[in-house]
Amino acid sequence: MDRNESAPAIVIKSERYKERDRIITLLSPVWGLRRVVVYGAQKSRKAVKASLYTEAVFHIYENRERRQTSLVDLNIISIHENVSESLETSFAASLMCEIIMKERGEDAPAYYSLLTGLIDTLCAENYRRSVIQFVIRALDISGLAPDFIRCPDCGRRYAEAEILGFSRSGLTPCCSDCDSMSGSFILPPNARRYLKDSLSCDAQKAMSFEISQRMETSLMRYTIRLYRMVTSAELKSALMLSELSAGTQELDVVVSTGNKR
Ligand SMILES: [Zn+2]
Repeated sequence: MDRNESAPAIVIKSERYKERDRIITLLSPVWGLRRVVVYGAQKSRKAVKASLYTEAVFHIYENRERRQTSLVDLNIISIHENVSESLETSFAASLMCEIIMKERGEDAPAYYSLLTGLIDTLCAENYRRSVIQFVIRALDISGLAPDFIRCPDCGRRYAEAEILGFSRSGLTPCCSDCDSMSGSFILPPNARRYLKDSLSCDAQKAMSFEISQRMETSLMRYTIRLYRMVTSAELKSALMLSELSAGTQELDVVVSTGNKR
């Protein structure tokens, strides 16, 4: 039995398919992840276009016999053209989508609202902060975000000015005593506070927290590395991003006061 369906969604992947068509992957709060063929997208001017990062109400047609779903029409909500502003913003958006692809449609409503909310904040100035917020919240959605209050290994409450290490066995940030990476993957107190405060409010609010560009760069690397360690995911766009933002140092460590500047 064939049928037509409609739902809001955003294009998170777009690939060539055969000679004239494309296959797009949609993230929808209703469908989860869904692969949809766009016939003629490659050649025909008349074909319905749904380029990468287009957010819309998608009308699709499912042909059960051919086991294929195709795009019929769409009502655009936003094409998020800010993403193509720079290489950095493009890689940031592609990192977000890579993480979502990896989740295979789990928690789709939460990821949909996270992505559509944060993709709008991407700009050459802000992309690091958007990435930090996305990654830490993605970990939170999967139930893998640390609370940054107590050490998950020994249960001890962190001291105010404590620099967190990382526990290889627990795959989590931990207190300095439980650190099993000899201080090679650390989180200073000011950065920890920023992450903890971020998770205590919504993404839009957290985007307004002021941090220095240097801390943004370090924290972007930290959160991406954290994500990769915790989920053992390879993230191709992460490599590109860190190469682009190269030249900045590791997280600043101020042991005595816990305050930067
Ligand atoms: Zn501990």
